[in-house]
Amino acid sequence: MNWEQLLQRVYDDVAPSLGEGKVADYIPALACADPHAFALSVATLDGAHYGVGLTRTSFSIQSISKVFALKMALSLEGVELWQRVGREPSGTPFNSIVQLEREGGVPRNPFINAGALIVTDALVTRCGQVDAVSRLIALLHQLSGSSRVACDPEVAASERTWGDRNRSLAYFMRSFGVLKNAPEIVLDAYFRQCSITMTTHELAQAGLFLANDGVDPLHGGRVAAHSEVNRINALMLTCGHYDMSGDFAWRVGLPGKSGVGGGILAIVPGLASVAVWSPALNAAGNSLVGTLALERLSERGGLNLF
Ligand code: GLU
Repeated sequence: MNWEQLLQRVYDDVAPSLGEGKVADYIPALACADPHAFALSVATLDGAHYGVGLTRTSFSIQSISKVFALKMALSLEGVELWQRVGREPSGTPFNSIVQLEREGGVPRNPFINAGALIVTDALVTRCGQVDAVSRLIALLHQLSGSSRVACDPEVAASERTWGDRNRSLAYFMRSFGVLKNAPEIVLDAYFRQCSITMTTHELAQAGLFLANDGVDPLHGGRVAAHSEVNRINALMLTCGHYDMSGDFAWRVGLPGKSGVGGGILAIVPGLASVAVWSPALNAAGNSLVGTLALERLSERGGLNLF
């Protein structure tokens, strides 16, 4: 595959759409992102990297962190985790509270905010409040091969100030006994986790173990069990884009996880990991041009799994 040519073609396809959509404005720290910014990176199992656009510019990965937090929680907690969080698409927005009351405070999946709070709760129980996030960052350093991956204190503070919806979710789940730790402790870790910044170059590299059956190609060691990788990819495919997860699977045909910072991580099992960033979002809070770029990449490169 001529990746360089493929990425350039994809860029040419989507360039006219740059600026369409709306940058996340639920916190001031994200509202200033440039809606025309774009980066697309591919890391392949043979160790090569390809990219187009601002592939060395760090952005807020937001909910993409939920993939790596889930990997950690599955390793630490195993199947016990599934007693407190489900594995079904929610069909609701990322921060929705409506299903929780009907379903006994158990969130539908680990990639909506409520489910991610339960995953972070598990990490806080196993690692402690401070180490939950520092161990997540250490994992990202290892997987990305970059020590520049870090929390952005301004974004974390903004999340904390404007985080009443997440606060409501956490207290609500605590009232059902599903959230185990004090909500403010879990929320603090969750807000810092959401504020992690990475480049698409680093993110593509960090996701590569999911394309490689759990083995980190950078260091050659296994970081996740075969079954964990299968499950994370299945959840990314079915639940990775909130109430547009079906649409993403239909258009792109790859496991993917989006974040409201405009990033998307997509996995091509056995071949590559792809990271795209473009901050302007569609109605469901997923990168509008990022989704389009992955759709074109999948079509032009014959990458659709189905
Ligand atoms: N920090 C965001 C929130 O919790 C994450 C949502 C997302 O990236 O989709 O509201």
